[in-house]
Amino acid sequence: MDNCIFCKIVNKEIPAKTIYEDKDIISFLDISQATKGHCLVVLKKHFDDITSTDDEKLAKAILIAKKIAIRQLKTLDGIIGVNIINNTLEGAGQTIMHTHIHIIPRYKDDKLVIGFPNNFGKNSDEELDILVKKLKI
Ligand code: AMP
Ligand code: ZN
Repeated sequence: MDNCIFCKIVNKEIPAKTIYEDKDIISFLDISQATKGHCLVVLKKHFDDITSTDDEKLAKAILIAKKIAIRQLKTLDGIIGVNIINNTLEGAGQTIMHTHIHIIPRYKDDKLVIGFPNNFGKNSDEELDILVKKLKI
C-alpha cells in the first residue's frame, strides 16, 4: 500500500529495530517507546484495521504478541505487567491504518495512562439487556 509506513518497514524501505520476523509477521520496537520495550506486532500483508484482517493471520499475530509479552516479563528490569492493545480506527487512536498490536511493558510509576472509568451501577438492567441483544454474536 502506497505511503503506508508499516508497508515500508515490511518492504525494508525504512529501517526498524526488528525483534521477530516470519513470512506473515514482523515485530519491532515502537519508535516512540511509550514505555521501555514497547513493541509492535505487524502483519506483513496490508489490512487497514483489525476488522478487515484475515482471521488466520490475526490469530498468528496475537500468539506472537503473547510470546513477546512473556519475553518482556522475563528480560526487562523492573517490569510489573504488560498491556496488549489494538487501536481500531481513528476514533480509538489508530494513527497508522495497517493492522498492528502494541505490547507495552508496565513499570511502577511509568506515568502511562490506560484506564477505564468506573461506571459500575450506572446502566439499568434494561439498558444492559438491550446491549446484549445488539451485541450477541
Ligand atoms: P496506533 O496509534 O495504534 O496506530 O500506533 C501506531 C504506532 O506506530 C505509534 O505508537 C507510533 O509511535 C508507531 N510508529 C510510527 N512510525 C513508526 C516507525 N517508523 N517505526 C516504529 N514505530 C512507528
Ligand atoms: Zn500498510
